[in-house]
Amino acid sequence: MTPPPFALVADAWFDGTRHHDHAVTLQVTDGTIRDIAAGDHAAALSARGWAVERGAFLMPGLVDAHVHLFLDGRLTDPAARSAHLKQDVESLTACAQASARHALNSGVTLVRDAGDRHGINNQVRSLARDPASGMAAVRSGGLGVKRAKRYGAFMATDVDDDASIRASVRALSTDNDEIKLILTGVIDFDAGAVTDTPQFTVDAARLVVDTAHACGRKVFAHCSGALGLEVAIAAGVDSIEHGFFMRRDLLAQMRDRGLAWTPTFCPVHAQWADPEPAGWSVQTIGNLRRILDDHAEHVRLAQEMGVRLLVGTDAGSMGVPHGDAVFDEIERFVEAGLSIDAALTAATSAPREHFGMNHPTLAAGSPFDAVLLEASPRAGIRALRHPRRVWRDGVEARR
Ligand SMILES: [Zn+2]
Repeated sequence: MTPPPFALVADAWFDGTRHHDHAVTLQVTDGTIRDIAAGDHAAALSARGWAVERGAFLMPGLVDAHVHLFLDGRLTDPAARSAHLKQDVESLTACAQASARHALNSGVTLVRDAGDRHGINNQVRSLARDPASGMAAVRSGGLGVKRAKRYGAFMATDVDDDASIRASVRALSTDNDEIKLILTGVIDFDAGAVTDTPQFTVDAARLVVDTAHACGRKVFAHCSGALGLEVAIAAGVDSIEHGFFMRRDLLAQMRDRGLAWTPTFCPVHAQWADPEPAGWSVQTIGNLRRILDDHAEHVRLAQEMGVRLLVGTDAGSMGVPHGDAVFDEIERFVEAGLSIDAALTAATSAPREHFGMNHPTLAAGSPFDAVLLEASPRAGIRALRHPRRVWRDGVEARR
């Protein structure tokens, strides 16, 4: 069903890279922006029979570039989390659909799923293809690749020698939009460091990247700690996910090689803000704070140096709920010292550009994926948290 044509006048707007402090008039037909013009043209359009809507502030639909749809981030009790994972695939699929609905309700019109072992993300991608599904669109990492007996079993399959890497990556590329490479484990918060060694050598990681690229797929690498970051950059992955314990010299290499960075503050910040469920000691809480401060400093540097930053929440992780977490992550970017415009770019046009989408900003010819707010986020970032209306491909989300 094609959504009916309409016009929209907003008092001010953000196009995906820049703020405009003046009115704008859009004409939307078949879910696409046909025309976008400075000024308030409501009277002329009404005279021509257009239905004209109004609002205070318009911006592109948000993108959450790192989620796990099949996990429920509202669960913080470790026992409840492991019980969740033991559910059958049908229940987990229902949970994943609910996650994609929460995302859309928060104004997130597109998510990139960073892996699940059942391939539920690919299934939800199909179900969410219809903009009237009530779900955010899904770019899916399907099942990722990892080493046997190493971190990442909930989201990745094991690969072994070169032949098995080639065969797995080729097979995964038929159905996955991107290839997820599990390069390191997670941070040991008690130690305040990544304590394991990278799962892949530079040569093996490069084989993953070359095979994926030959299949027309980008590679996003789960990676934290200097050893893993060095491997990821040398192997030429397309984006680094998490990337805790970043260094300035590594950022310079990322910029020069065009690697994007999804810093995912949320899962670590959630542990620091609510240390009780995991029972972190006072010393570990101090480690969490130091890790977050160091991360913020490097995200600020990355922006200054020209590294492409993507807002991704790791929603589904403990204490990181689908949908609303995106506001927390954007606030972390602003706290780190990025301008509102830079943070919003990382949450709208930057990921769309990184994913190779044809229309990363709100412009004539773009799908009408947009959020209408009651006030400009420049007057207070919290305005983002209460989207008045949300559209995906011109279809308004019923909330
Ligand atoms: Zn993740």
